[in-house]
Amino acid sequence: MSTAKRGKVRVEKGRYRLDGQFHFPYPNDSIRNEHGELMGVTNPRDLTHVHMYGGEAPFFEALSQGKLLGTRCDNSDCGANGSIFIPFRIHCPVKNNIVDMTDTARKGATVHTFMITERTGAFNTLPKPIRFVNVEFEGVPTILMGYLSVGEPEIGMKVVPIFNTSKPSYTILDLSWVPEGTDESDIPKGFTFQ
Ligand SMILES: [Zn+2]
Repeated sequence: MSTAKRGKVRVEKGRYRLDGQFHFPYPNDSIRNEHGELMGVTNPRDLTHVHMYGGEAPFFEALSQGKLLGTRCDNSDCGANGSIFIPFRIHCPVKNNIVDMTDTARKGATVHTFMITERTGAFNTLPKPIRFVNVEFEGVPTILMGYLSVGEPEIGMKVVPIFNTSKPSYTILDLSWVPEGTDESDIPKGFTFQ
């Protein structure tokens, strides 16, 4: 990568302020056939994708602080009035209220189903195979997709959340799951139970 300053974004009075470089090109390489004839070039480059969280920002901020947030519909005119949603649903269609579901997750989360994958897409940073788990919470009508960091998943298995609070990525990868009763020394580096 060049020595140019990596791009940073901040928001000032509701507007994006971009500073630094967001596009890093690298030298081209020739593409040749078996006779050595030029067929084309590769154009390697790095792009920085700017991803706005909008109303979901509190959810990702909370993960970095060891908390799992859901939302609740408090609109008495809505058929879903009183329902708590994880994943974090911002509107229902009126704006929902934020509720801290960390204790519920610690006490009553189970694996609804799971999926193990050996092959992943580009830019995967999780160790393979990835053990995806669909986590069900007591009193919550929706199911959250996550990944198990210790052991092998089983349907109905009790799991507890762990959080990457030491060096958060501010993405969903800051939240993972381990079987209930897992020892703190067995969870991935950087993660904690709270
Ligand atoms: Zn509603």
